[in-house]
Amino acid sequence: MYSQVNISNYKALNFGAGPGKLPEEVLRQVQKELLEYSGTQVSILELSHRSPEFKNIIENAQETLREILYVPDNYKILFMQGGGTGLFAAIPLNMMNNGTADYIVTGTWSAKAAEEAAKYGKVNFVLPKTTKYMEIPDPSSWNLNPKASYVYYCANETIHGVEFNYIPETNGVPLVADMSSNILTRCLDISKFAVIFAGAQKNIGPAGVTLVIVRDDILGHAMDTCPTILDFTVMAKSNSIYNTPPVFQIYVVGLVFKWIKDRGGVEEMEKLAIMKSRKIYDVIKNSNGFYSCPVNPNARSRMNVPFRIATNNEELEKEFISSATARGLLQLKGHRSIGGIRVSLYNAVSVDEAEVLAAFMIRFFQNYGY
Ligand SMILES: *Cc1c(COP(=O)(O)O)cnc(C)c1O
Repeated sequence: MYSQVNISNYKALNFGAGPGKLPEEVLRQVQKELLEYSGTQVSILELSHRSPEFKNIIENAQETLREILYVPDNYKILFMQGGGTGLFAAIPLNMMNNGTADYIVTGTWSAKAAEEAAKYGKVNFVLPKTTKYMEIPDPSSWNLNPKASYVYYCANETIHGVEFNYIPETNGVPLVADMSSNILTRCLDISKFAVIFAGAQKNIGPAGVTLVIVRDDILGHAMDTCPTILDFTVMAKSNSIYNTPPVFQIYVVGLVFKWIKDRGGVEEMEKLAIMKSRKIYDVIKNSNGFYSCPVNPNARSRMNVPFRIATNNEELEKEFISSATARGLLQLKGHRSIGGIRVSLYNAVSVDEAEVLAAFMIRFFQNYGY
């Protein structure tokens, strides 16, 4: 089946982890409109953030997101700066009201968030400490503090390929999720969350803007020392135009939301994410041990698939990457902290593209006699 796909017919395919692939249709529209935005006689890069046109852009982006992600009316949609990392500080600064918070650490990004939060209060580690992130321990073993200000987790650990396939139960404690690398790839009951945030550059747009979805009752409780620019309440009151927002980034993110809506919404993105990731995991499973994914099967990510080759054979992994790159299959190198290969399958990556990579992977292991 895989051999029917002719790799040479395809242009370069981008499997990068971030900044990740954006839809070609969106990039073409940006190109078309770049010199003059919608009759304004200036570029979107030169347009005032106080103009009616930009007001339209930001409101449309919010409205489209509300629609495709079913965001209830008692949540604000903010566009902030400082990346995902900025939010690691913003979360405790806005929410650590009683001095302690629970962190479910399942990979590099939640570990960094916990480290940042510890500057502002006490961090309770819900899981035993580890440096090998390969699973999500069963909730029955979690050490949750019922008095915590909030429970924090990372829905998809981009580096380790560890993804939650459920929403953690916190028994009424506000739940915070970093969804930087899997937002808009699975259907969600937003009402289960106090805050969801996502840096744009993995799945929804260019680097430089961070999406924040915050429930109204969270507003108004920031620490006195919270920098104005990280204060959810200030951002909500000004509809994210307190100071100059990342105008261009918000414009592109709005186009990506529209692109998702036009293609059947998050429901469709979820179906495709399942198909794409299954193709890659199936090749790994059927490679007679040539490829191996260290992550426990029930925590494997649909977005980022990390694997090693022939029991961590770094020479073969280099060969895999250079051979893939020569065929236009790009940005497959694993994160520098864990090595190996990493395939990222964000929304803009098509099922056909995943299939081309799967075919390449099969040919590669067959060449090595497995
Ligand atoms: C990339 C990433 C971050 C960090 O984002 P920056 O915008 O680089 O600060 C945080 N969390 C997750 C899950 C990520 O993938």
